[in-house]
Amino acid sequence: MITRKQLIKKYLDFFKEKKHGIIPSAPLVPENDPTVLFTTAGMHPLVPYLLGQPHPLGKRIADNQKCIRTVDIEGVGDKTHHTFFEMLGNWSLGDYFKQGAIEMSFEFLTSEKWLNLPIEKLAVTCFEGDNDAPKDTEAEDIWKSLGIPQERIAFLPKSENFWGPAGQTGPCGPCTEMFYWSGEGEAPKIFDTDDNNWVEIWNDVFMAYNKKADGSYEKLVAQNVDTGLGVERVTAVLNNLSDNYLTGCFKPIIKKIEKVSGKKYSDNERAMRIIADHIKAATFIISDGITPSNTDQGYILRRLIRRAIRYGKELGMENFTSKIAESVFEIYDDYPELEENKEKILSELEKEEERFNLTLEKGLKIFNRWVLKIKEGFRKNEKKIKWSEGKYILKGKDAFLLYQSYGFPIEMTKELAKEKGIKVDIEGFQKELKKHQDLSRTAAEGKFKSGLADSSEATTRLHTATHLLMAALRDVLKDENIMQKGSNITPQRLRLDFNFDRKLTKEELEQIEDLVNIKIQESYEVKREEMSPEEARKKGAVGVFDGKYGDKVSIYSVEDFSAEICAGPHVKNTCELGHFKIKKEESSSSGVRRIKAILEDSP
Ligand code: ATP
Ligand code: MG
Repeated sequence: MITRKQLIKKYLDFFKEKKHGIIPSAPLVPENDPTVLFTTAGMHPLVPYLLGQPHPLGKRIADNQKCIRTVDIEGVGDKTHHTFFEMLGNWSLGDYFKQGAIEMSFEFLTSEKWLNLPIEKLAVTCFEGDNDAPKDTEAEDIWKSLGIPQERIAFLPKSENFWGPAGQTGPCGPCTEMFYWSGEGEAPKIFDTDDNNWVEIWNDVFMAYNKKADGSYEKLVAQNVDTGLGVERVTAVLNNLSDNYLTGCFKPIIKKIEKVSGKKYSDNERAMRIIADHIKAATFIISDGITPSNTDQGYILRRLIRRAIRYGKELGMENFTSKIAESVFEIYDDYPELEENKEKILSELEKEEERFNLTLEKGLKIFNRWVLKIKEGFRKNEKKIKWSEGKYILKGKDAFLLYQSYGFPIEMTKELAKEKGIKVDIEGFQKELKKHQDLSRTAAEGKFKSGLADSSEATTRLHTATHLLMAALRDVLKDENIMQKGSNITPQRLRLDFNFDRKLTKEELEQIEDLVNIKIQESYEVKREEMSPEEARKKGAVGVFDGKYGDKVSIYSVEDFSAEICAGPHVKNTCELGHFKIKKEESSSSGVRRIKAILEDSP
């Protein structure tokens, strides 16, 4: 058994022996690099030195750097990819190059004094070459001279084996990656890079070039080496584990999740891995000064916490994030900043969880209903229902509603939809988002005055719902003569009286309910226009055309579905209504029926 801390110590001791100066981990949020939100690799904080600035500790540097990789968030759930991980690294700033770097990596991995890993389980990749840089036969020859057989050396293209700069420009070059066989028994003779039992543990990058703004590569004067070894993966390998979550880097967190949920890791691997990973990452991000928000690092943090909460709910956990986070402090007591910020970390987690708890369940309910509707609509091929965006697509407006009113990060909606075989119209979502941002800017500047503020929002919503109900009645009952004979709205329910000479059937009531809900889900703008009573009548508006309106009437309309003469107020968009439900249909007086209905799950 070798622990994470022992591995880190061994690595730093080894490179100290090789004359490297040891530097502390930089913060997760880069101090001088606007090209990235987070430090994604050990090289980030060292970019100025890789570009030629002399380092105070000399030409050989090593460290253990905490990293956040947002590109891997969605991959989390497997055995080897984390959002937060530690990367051990060593650097040569114009000192040793391929020969020195590969020999040191090899010695550290295989020497009895250090990690003592069997050569028989190692394999490597090298750069296959292209127009910008040649095939790396030099690295290949060095590996062979150390005893790695040809069948265990694979050549890969730029996408895999050329380390590019995170921004558009910067130091880069071909790399050679080391893999370890984590499968059962002996490693296959031939190295198959597509076989997931081969786990990448270390990457040596040979920074021979600087990528310029015009896309060309210039050779660097001083050739540098940048390496990265994953602490979690190597800890697993050293303990003969194929699952990083069973190492000390995660085990206490998994144990805590098992305890809080009362469920077993072996039955819930993916969910527990996601929860453990995301809460760990969130803990470190908050500790470095970020709080949940809707932009930049704060948004990533929010996404992580909310995704963890969603998976936690699946395991039946409530108010759990700060409890789980406790176990992160146990593992990483070598990061003093965690302990220093403990109170803040726990309270930020709790606050974000509270915020999300207010809307998550309702949002999920609405989402699930949409899914049913989308699928049902296709099954029955109902003509009346216009699924404007095509098959199995969740509209941008709907995704935006989930984002805006229920706090669903768009990536989460995408993930939920994917599980149901539905795509999300991301472009439409972005458009809505932009529209909203423009709107709220206008509001912030005080140019935009809403008429809703004074009347109860619940009443306003039910008022709009009454219009939709009226239109649905005329549509489903196929009777243009149906008119409103009275209405009474409280914040709790609407009551609409209308002329019709018999009881409505159960089917009719269901159809009416469905039609209203579809109009709500399709998110139509509720438009207000002023016109003469003549024009209103021509438009087919419902309402009483008597003299009391004067020569201008105001019409509220919902696409071509509903138009009523009305003084308002109404919501701006039908999507604000929630779920429409008819509670009762009864006789009111002779030839007049009465419907009572409510809105559930309003934002
Ligand atoms: P992979 O192809 O497995 O995603 P990578 O090529 O993205 O790995 P590098 O960018 O070369 O990895 O990072 C250097 C080392 O850091 C890797 O060899 C691995 O040990 C570790 N590493 C990279 N990404 C992760 C991650 N998401 N979680 C844990 N360790 C990682
Ligand atoms: Mg990767």
